[in-house]
Amino acid sequence: DLLEAQEFAQSKAQAQKRGKTGIMFADVAGADSTLKELQEVVEFLHNPLRFQALGAKAPKGILLEGEPGTGKTLIAKAVAGEANVPFYQMSGSEFVEFIVGVGAARIRDLFKRARAQGEPCIIFVDEIDALGARRAQAGERADEEREQALNQLLSEMDGFTPDSGIVFIAATNRADLLDPALMRAGRFDRKIRIARPDMRGRYQILKVHARKRPMAPDVDLMQVARDLPGLSGAELANVLNEGALEAVRKGADIITRSDIYNGMDRVLQGVRRPALPSYLRVRYCMALHESGRALAATLLRRQRLAEGLPPHLERVERVSIVARGSQWTRTVFLRGSDEDYTMSTRARLQQRLRVILAGRAAEDVMLKEGPTTYSMGNMRDAMNMALKMVSNYGLSDAGITVHVPNTDVTGFMTRAFEVNVDNIDADLFGSSTQNPYPYAPQDPSVDLVRREAMELVSTAYMESVALLHKHQAALQALTDKLLDDETL
Ligand code: ADP
Repeated sequence: DLLEAQEFAQSKAQAQKRGKTGIMFADVAGADSTLKELQEVVEFLHNPLRFQALGAKAPKGILLEGEPGTGKTLIAKAVAGEANVPFYQMSGSEFVEFIVGVGAARIRDLFKRARAQGEPCIIFVDEIDALGARRAQAGERADEEREQALNQLLSEMDGFTPDSGIVFIAATNRADLLDPALMRAGRFDRKIRIARPDMRGRYQILKVHARKRPMAPDVDLMQVARDLPGLSGAELANVLNEGALEAVRKGADIITRSDIYNGMDRVLQGVRRPALPSYLRVRYCMALHESGRALAATLLRRQRLAEGLPPHLERVERVSIVARGSQWTRTVFLRGSDEDYTMSTRARLQQRLRVILAGRAAEDVMLKEGPTTYSMGNMRDAMNMALKMVSNYGLSDAGITVHVPNTDVTGFMTRAFEVNVDNIDADLFGSSTQNPYPYAPQDPSVDLVRREAMELVSTAYMESVALLHKHQAALQALTDKLLDDETL
């Protein structure tokens, strides 16, 4: 059995032997400092003997740590590509098989093959944590297998001679789980953390992936980067790919901005699910609600711009009644610069309150029977935001700073002080965090705070109602169009 297993292992490792990767540093975006660090490895692979002649310590093992999709594999391949050496890749999970001894045999085989070439190369093992994890709760057998494989790997790594020109690169998203033996000095001389890209990094990654795709002139990659905070390189590549597929589906030969935002929808919210609101009346109410938000946001923004004031509201990118993820309908705003989100003003928060309430205002203006229950989430968001304005920031209409008592009766107080401006902005983007009510119920300030907050909410609401009342025709037209096109 073992023989057979070993044979199988060998054929598998063989299958994994890769030729030259053809991937270069230019294919990796937003990781300049990492690439700089790895430049030395490339030099080493080019000419290992020179390192030896000068008595320079050759890089041996490199550990890349970072979340999935941050480009660890891509970077390892790019090192091989730049150095123009073969690339051997396996995944740590392939070394931990059910049959004891198979993993170890695969490792031995992988290194043997690499050495047999007699030329510099890179051995890359992804998910090294599968192999190098500390003893887990897994069964005894799995442990035994893992132990054997790990020991094999350790002895292979220790057995490198500097002139062999073999560089071992491992990747993990959980370096904290790795067996200390693996981390001991001399095994991985470099540990490099790969973070999710920042705004600039996202832009550069998008640019790399836009290179081979025909983009329409209306595509603004900088704006796309701004709209996708927190995404990994793989997810960004995915957005552009989904955008391209969108264009293919339409039979177009160029990718438009709208394709890309559709792609974004797919990646962020999942594929569209069969729409529930086939009831015409429900569909109408939802479309009306969402039109109200989009229209109010646009009108309020224009008004302030016309007065030469900062608009305090993002541009509306789209409004949609295609259900995705947990949302039936939504208005998507184009994110502003990061600077816009570090501090807020009363004027800005008031603008936002108006938009949050505009869906319900639209229902109030247009529906004979009055507003529906669809605004439940908006009402909660509005009230939470108003409570924060009054009690955390002293930004009520009355302009008074409400005294915030520092007695912490229930533990609520401490949390109230942690609420940051970002959360307020999150309200508008629909991901509102539950605001802990900042006062102990028996505190006498409660009534005052509530009253002030109610005042803020009702003022903003009346303003939205008045605005949409004045623009009823536009609201009706937008709703009808949205019902026809589903996404505008
Ligand atoms: P990991 O190994 O960290 O899970 P990968 O290297 O497999 O991530 O990344 C998957 C894909 O995402 C890559 O093939 C590439 O298309 C894209 N990608 C990730 N990071 C970057 C980056 N920094 N620059 C360009 N593309 C990237």
